[in-house]
Amino acid sequence: MGQLNPRFDGETVVVTGAASGIGREIALQFGAAGATTIVADLRPEPKDGDVPTHEVVRDEGGDAEFVRTDVTDVDQLETLVAAAREFGGVDVMVNNAGIIVSGSIREVDPETFDRIHAVNVRGTFFGTQVAANDMIDRDDPGVVLNTASISSDLAQYDQVQYDASKGAIRMITRGSALELAEHDIRVNAVAPGQIATEMTDGWADEAREKVANDELVKPVPLGRAGTPADLAPAYLYLASEQAGYVTGEMLQVDGGWQVF
Ligand code: NAD
Repeated sequence: MGQLNPRFDGETVVVTGAASGIGREIALQFGAAGATTIVADLRPEPKDGDVPTHEVVRDEGGDAEFVRTDVTDVDQLETLVAAAREFGGVDVMVNNAGIIVSGSIREVDPETFDRIHAVNVRGTFFGTQVAANDMIDRDDPGVVLNTASISSDLAQYDQVQYDASKGAIRMITRGSALELAEHDIRVNAVAPGQIATEMTDGWADEAREKVANDELVKPVPLGRAGTPADLAPAYLYLASEQAGYVTGEMLQVDGGWQVF
């Protein structure tokens, strides 16, 4: 099979939630493809204490910085984009940070609901806004990529508040793609399926048991849960010139789960 290997030499890519999981792999792959990679997260390293993402990129010969960022705070998002200006300005903004908290519609409390929406929805919305405004101010259009989910379309038991937040990301992607097209800024989303990360590791015991029993991966036509390495190339493709006519799209990378 052929290989699509876009290069991002001279470009600056900001990835939120890049200390661990999917965001970490996105940052590593952009770094390996020549981008100056800015890792934005609450902390620099994964929870297991592994080497911070920006240090891995540097160890492999790339350029990377860590900018401590809470995506729920718009001032911190402004600071993040300002930090990218020191490297020429953000060319690709990846709004990836996200959290999940399980709970039935009958018992979710307003504080937890707000917390999920602050990270997943507010973080994505204002991450898009500050990056797009900065690109327009610099007259240097780029790309915004959002991490949606299989849950943007599919309901799952005890995930209604998370599903709602991920459904919103799909429409943030479409709405901002529509408005920003006249500025040559493309906005797309990637929708992961079941991916093994800290997030899925932290699920409720019941869900973990289902994963252990393969119950959650059975509906995946390709027959396995995904890995961050399955996801990251979709971001590189959507950020590349080859995707120059793609905007407002949500690319499902889920082993075929959504067709089941
Ligand atoms: P993860 O927990 O491994 O990584 C999430 C990262 O986001 C962490 O490093 C965390 O510190 C960071 N983060 C959390 N709150 C933040 C905040 N307020 N500001 C900045 N950073 C913050 O999880 P993951 O599985 O890699 O998830 C990444 C994205 O993928 C999320 O948006 C998630 O909803 C989405 N997703 C994951 C799966 C999956 O199966 N793992 C499936 C669909 C979608």
